[in-house]
Order: sequence, then structure tokens, then C-alpha cells
Amino acid sequence: MTLRTIRQRVPALEVTEGAGVTVHRSIGTPALKNLDPFLMLDHFGSDNPDEYIAGFPEHPHRGFITFTYMLDGHMEHRDSMGNRGDLQAGGAQWMKAASGVIHSEMPKQTAGLMRGFQLWINLPASQKMSDPAYQEFSAAAIPETVRDGARVRVLAGEYDDVHGVIEDPETDVLYLDVRLEAGRRFESPLAGDRNAFVYVFEGDATLAGEALPRHTLAVLGKGEGFAIDAGGEGARFILVAGRPIGEPVVQYGPFVMNRREEIEQAFADYRDGKLVRTRAAMTGH
Ligand code: MN
Repeated sequence: MTLRTIRQRVPALEVTEGAGVTVHRSIGTPALKNLDPFLMLDHFGSDNPDEYIAGFPEHPHRGFITFTYMLDGHMEHRDSMGNRGDLQAGGAQWMKAASGVIHSEMPKQTAGLMRGFQLWINLPASQKMSDPAYQEFSAAAIPETVRDGARVRVLAGEYDDVHGVIEDPETDVLYLDVRLEAGRRFESPLAGDRNAFVYVFEGDATLAGEALPRHTLAVLGKGEGFAIDAGGEGARFILVAGRPIGEPVVQYGPFVMNRREEIEQAFADYRDGKLVRTRAAMTGH
């Protein structure tokens, strides 16, 4: 089994999003425009309400999926499907915007720590104009396994015979949150046809002999296995993998399509109040 090494290191850039929220972006920056099927990774983390309180008021999406994982804090989600989400620490939300969703993501706290990730996952052309869908799970519903000094939460995909709760049928995403004790090694098979990355957000780690500090995304090279060693303070990271789509990507802000004309259509539809075509039911608990 060939262990994957680091193909590219992408230090996260601080950017302002929504109505003035500070986020650390890695995928979706000039150094890494996308990592098929992933379009963007934002890590938000602050105990200063000035940096998050403005939230993400109503805005549109078309052509992809947003996957939000809350580590700390409390956020309310409302969308044009009629969903009202209550995202709390340890919970996860998968929203397939597809043909069009308008939603808001607003803090439900005025103090304390707000921390988490938002990942954008692309959809193949055949799904971009399909009906939206929504999955939301609280912390208690997300399976967790502890083995060899690693506490692993399986949000999506499969690890060590544990199945994640979020179903991602198009790109078959694996999404793990791993907390690794100091000096311990975490190993996992990783399908060779998947693009994958790791992002350390607590402590530090070493991957294939290379130091991996916090807030640096590592794109993994080819191989069928993954191994990482925690540093002296331990490490916590997300490991994410997905099947590449292999189609052209034309992105403009909240719209991600295959062709420029489709982006123009999205803007026209949004302007004319036609972006939202369908409402969809929510699944989860
Ligand atoms: Mn959004």
C-alpha cells in the first residue's frame, strides 16, 4: 500500500465573507483554485463576536453543495426550501443547492467561541439543475470511534466499518474529524481514485516526514493509504476525500456551473426571482 505524501501545501488566507465575517480560506484561493470536486474550504474560528456577529444574511447558491461542520457555537439556517436549521457544536449540514437555493446563516450567540468549516462540493453537469436537498444532523447523531489514541468522528463516508450519517451520492465524500493524542499515528486506507486533503486545526502533525502546522491545507498525492503523526501537543484535523468529476468549472461567486452562459443565466434568474425552482424536504435528526 503506497502511503500518500504531500503534493501541495496551501497556507490559509484570511478573507472577509458574508456581512463581514473573518474566515481562513485554503481551497478557493489563487494558490489552489479548486481540488476537484472541492471548490472552497473556509475555516471560521473566533471568540471575538465582532468577527462573526454579522453572519451570512440571505444569499443565493446554484450548481454545487455546501457542507457545514460546526465545531463550536450556534448558527441558525433558513432557506428557500423551507428548512430552518439549528446548527450547534458538533453538528453538520449538507445542503445541495443544485438548481437554486437562497439561504441565510446567522449566529445565534452574541459572545463566545464560533468555530467550524464550510466546504463547497461540486456537482456534475447532470445534477447542477436538479432539485435541491438538505441533510442536517446534531452532534449526538454523528458516529464516533476511538482506537489507538485517535478519536474519529465520521461525518460522511466510511472509516473502520463505521458509516457516516451524511449521504453524498455524487462524489462519495469521506469526511473525518480526527483528534489524535500526542506522539500517536493515525492510519487509514484511502481509495486511490479520490482527491484528498488534510487540514490541521489544533496542535501540529507530521505527514510523510514533512511538518504540517495549523491552518495549512495539505493536498495529498497519489496512493491508497494515509498516515499522519501527531506532534507533542497532539493534533486535530479533518481528512476529506472525494471522487473527481472531471468537468470544466466556471465559477462566479455563489454560482458554479460548467459554462459561462450558464453563469449568466444564473444571474438573470436571480435578478428575475427565478433562481429558486423547487422546495425540497429535509432529512436528518
Ligand atoms: Mn451560503
